[in-house]
Amino acid sequence: MPPSGTSPDRPIDTVFLDRDGVINQRIPGDYIKRWEEFVFLPGVVEALHDLRRAGLRSVVITNQRGIARGLYTDKDLHLVHQRMQAHLDAYDARVDAIYYCPDLDGPRRKPAPGMLFDAQRDHPAIDFARAVLIGDSASDLQAAASVGCRGILVGSGEHLTEQLDALRTLGLTPSHIARDLPDALRSWAPLAQSLESLSR
Ligand SMILES: [Mg+2]
Repeated sequence: MPPSGTSPDRPIDTVFLDRDGVINQRIPGDYIKRWEEFVFLPGVVEALHDLRRAGLRSVVITNQRGIARGLYTDKDLHLVHQRMQAHLDAYDARVDAIYYCPDLDGPRRKPAPGMLFDAQRDHPAIDFARAVLIGDSASDLQAAASVGCRGILVGSGEHLTEQLDALRTLGLTPSHIARDLPDALRSWAPLAQSLESLSR
C-alpha cells in the first residue's frame, strides 16, 4: 500500500447500493412486498462479504414507492430487511445501513439526493468524494452526480440500454458500467484497489 497522499485515485471507503436490481432481483412493474419475493442476485452475498472484510462501509439507498401506493407497509419492508440482514449475517456480509424512501415523490426519492444526505448526517465520516453509488437506473446515477459521488451503472440488455439513453439525455456519463455487483467490484479499478488495500 503506498503512503497516504501518493495515490492518484482517492480510495473508495463507502459504497452506496441501490437494492432492487443490484442486491436482489427486480420484479418489473411490481414491488418486493414480502421476504418470499426477495431473491438475491448471483454472487451478491459474496460481494457484500468482500466489502465488509475489506472494511468498506456499505449503505443501501432504496426507493420504495409501493408503500405510498398502499401495496405494502413500512413494517412489511422492515421485515424484509430484517430477513435480508439475518441471511447476510450468516455469511458475515451484513450491510452497515439501509435508507428507504416510501414517498411518491419529494426530496428523498431518487433522483433527488435526500437519502444520501441522511446517510451523511448519521455517518459524518462519509465523504462523497470517496464514495461510489452502484445502481441499475439512471435515477441512481443522477442522485450520485448531484452530490459529487461517482456512479456505476449495472445491468444488461434492453434495460441497460434504456438507462444509458436516459443518462445521455441528462448529459451524465457513468464512472463505469458493469454487468452486476460482483463484476463492478472486480472491474472498476478504484474499487478493486480499495478492496485490496483496505483489507491489509
Ligand atoms: Mg434499482
